[in-house]
Amino acid sequence: MAVDVLTVNGAPAPAAGTVLDACLSAGADVPHFCHSDRVSSGGHCRSCLVEVDGRHVAACTTPARAGSTVRTDTARIRAYRRDLGELLAVEATPGGVVGATLAGWGVTGERYGRAPGGPPTDTSHPYLRLDLDACIGCRLCERACDGIQGQFVYAFTGRGATTRLSWGDTSFAESPCVACGACAAVCPTGAVSDRDRDRAATTDELRTVRTTCGYCGAGCQLDVHVGPSAGADGDRVLRIDGTADAVVNHGHLCVKGRYSHAFARHPDRLTTPLLRKDGVLVPVSWDEAIAYVAAELVRLRGKVGGLSSSRCTNEENYLLQKWMRAGLGTNNVDCCARVCHGPTAAGMRRVLGTGAATNSLDDIERADHLLVAGSNSTEAHPVTGARLKQRVLSGAATLVVIDPRRTELAALADVHLQLRPGTNVPLLHSFAHALVKLGHVDHAFVAARTEGFADYVAFLDGYAPEATEAVTGVPAAKVWHAARLYGTAARPLQTHGLGMTEHYQGSESVMLLCNLALLVGAIGREGVGVNPLRGQNNVQGAADMGCQPDLLTGYGNPHDPAVKARFEGVWGRPLPTDAGLTLPRMYEAARAGTLKALFILGEDVVQTDPARHLDGVIDALELLVVQELFLTETAKRAHVVLPGASFLEKDGTFTNGERRVQRVRKALEPPIGSEGAGARADWEVLCALMAATGYPQAFRSPADILDEVARVNPAFTGVHHDRLDGDGLQWPVPTPDHPGTPRLHDTSFPLPATGGRARFAEVPYLPSPSLLHLREEEYPLRLVTGRVLEHYNCGSMTRRSPNVELAPVDALELHPADAARFGVADGAAVVVTSPWGEARPVARVTDRVAEGTAFLSFHFPETGTNELMSPVLDRIADCPEYKVTPVRVRSA
Ligand code: SF4
Repeated sequence: MAVDVLTVNGAPAPAAGTVLDACLSAGADVPHFCHSDRVSSGGHCRSCLVEVDGRHVAACTTPARAGSTVRTDTARIRAYRRDLGELLAVEATPGGVVGATLAGWGVTGERYGRAPGGPPTDTSHPYLRLDLDACIGCRLCERACDGIQGQFVYAFTGRGATTRLSWGDTSFAESPCVACGACAAVCPTGAVSDRDRDRAATTDELRTVRTTCGYCGAGCQLDVHVGPSAGADGDRVLRIDGTADAVVNHGHLCVKGRYSHAFARHPDRLTTPLLRKDGVLVPVSWDEAIAYVAAELVRLRGKVGGLSSSRCTNEENYLLQKWMRAGLGTNNVDCCARVCHGPTAAGMRRVLGTGAATNSLDDIERADHLLVAGSNSTEAHPVTGARLKQRVLSGAATLVVIDPRRTELAALADVHLQLRPGTNVPLLHSFAHALVKLGHVDHAFVAARTEGFADYVAFLDGYAPEATEAVTGVPAAKVWHAARLYGTAARPLQTHGLGMTEHYQGSESVMLLCNLALLVGAIGREGVGVNPLRGQNNVQGAADMGCQPDLLTGYGNPHDPAVKARFEGVWGRPLPTDAGLTLPRMYEAARAGTLKALFILGEDVVQTDPARHLDGVIDALELLVVQELFLTETAKRAHVVLPGASFLEKDGTFTNGERRVQRVRKALEPPIGSEGAGARADWEVLCALMAATGYPQAFRSPADILDEVARVNPAFTGVHHDRLDGDGLQWPVPTPDHPGTPRLHDTSFPLPATGGRARFAEVPYLPSPSLLHLREEEYPLRLVTGRVLEHYNCGSMTRRSPNVELAPVDALELHPADAARFGVADGAAVVVTSPWGEARPVARVTDRVAEGTAFLSFHFPETGTNELMSPVLDRIADCPEYKVTPVRVRSA
């Protein structure tokens, strides 16, 4: 016998991992109630008892040794299992796998009787159900909660027969559970169960479709289980699991990806086109709507703009900008990156040459230091956030967080740099200053790969942490400490979010983050890099596809003759020559009367863009077309509303925040509704509109569209639907058989002007003009806005799911001292006033925010969060300044 083999019931098996692994690979039927591939084994339930070389051991915790003889089905083991089953049945009535297995063993529960008084069932949570009577104490739920999500909701209390699963003394809905569902996914008895799963069990499952989550830029892979529906709209989603072998999420999901799918069959879905007649939106046929929109766009040609959507696929984003440019002759095309990560792309392109994540999410597990800047990752990108959290909890990485709020990650950090909103630039300069003064500079990297170092070091002289602390509010000692951690790490990895970008100096803040990575040589290798966490699911793809006025698909420069010729050859039309307008500039043009028509694909700008930007805009438009799932605040004001399809209802691709292009697969048909017109996949609608405006397309499927993208974008040459099964491909994919690029800038930067060297950015600190309003007697607080875990952007999808039970309102986080100062009680309705408007949330008194800072989400239109926003834009990328607004607060 070879030395790396053992035998299981006489059959050879590899002696790798545990005895349970060997047994399962040999096909032996060994029960393993408390084992999951996703968490470490605890050997709690003893169901996997086997005989190894004559000794009886728990297979899940015993290492497999070469040459061992394993037996799994002896008379003694069978007797032991029956006894174990009878003992389990004293305290529990397990269902699920365990219940079925015990029944198969002939366990009746009569041998030892039944403990009196079954423990309670908790049904307080909209997604999870706790039936303690079914619990056998295997602790899988606890290990999944701790080891996957890092939430530590569960504990076991009591001793012996009184041992009970516990989550504290509240209802489960009030526990710290974040509804990731990892516990229910592993529970073998139904004690912790997924209410979707319970419902699904009563319905015939028709099929399972693997697709990509449509909520955030993590790009988690979903297994969507579909079954029949009693309604007119065909099938429905029964439940969703995380795809176990997906590299992005390894089976894990968050409350949005796993549970928030009710929107797809919600009665509010738009199912027929609407056309405004006599001031009222009325249902019309698709033919009438398409003809009307086309005629109006042709009439208004030269005064048209288009806004694309990160909720739509790459193929749809590509079509929209192609239509605007080659069909309607304008570069007036933009996407929602303008209001989130546009500054990331602009800043990173200037310093590093590419405006996208340098590394892969997998590098989180290779890093030994994490710098999280302006990102509430565990709420905004929960699965990525859980990975960051686990890396820190395991002790494998130190953590520095730059954030005005004490987010979940900030509370775990070695150093929390809790700066005043609006002071990212001086803080990052002081961080760089400390790195240089502490000698944490990779001089070999700097000499070989960068330029401008000497000037940069001289520039940093004025930004000692002691000099900036009065502005930033961050004690100098903390900056020195943070720089020491970042500078001494072997593999320091950065992530950043909108807390860096949505500022007057957002692009410049991103440039300074790049500077930090350059100083320590943390680019172009594993476990490091500058990695923006993309907020919306396909915001990376929308920008990649060319939905911005100055850059074509693949960031092609329209002024480069070779690029121009390539596009004109494929598109069969000349490229437009106008400069093109960003979205805020389109609003200005509408007010000025030079832009008359706006086509909006899947964005609710009336709720999410700063309200003052939109003043007078919609009334000035002669044509506003909105393609949407619901009658959003923007759709309510449109001239034409076209019912679109959700990510569950169409084919295509999304690109996640690590440049990974992944398949989106149709799980459901778009809803038909009672009028019978039916919603349609957005790419089909765009093709119809292109044809009706005189630019017919030959595409028969999203795969055809992506094939054309591969012809115009050299980074997508090898990206085709038939290559994207499994984990997709990370661009650039420069040849048909290229495996994709997990890491950028290994040897040089795509910056021809500097010979491939990155250039340190020197950026003077320029306080935002909006901060001039910050006066104790008038507007004493700095307001930050952002998302909460349960909701997605304008909330049109998540508010139409039970997520709304978990987070029913927008809450203003206010420090206890500020709440006392303004006479505001926790939970009270309040009025928030800025120089630009008023919002009406409820107050949440918490020390998550520092004194002088407040936080407000923007998911409910009735709150009016965007009424507060200043008209200030990022100096380079025109991104609105969502992250600092002077406000005052009073009780309503
Ligand atoms: Fe979807 Fe993002 Fe949640 Fe993953 S982390 S399930 S991509 S919302």
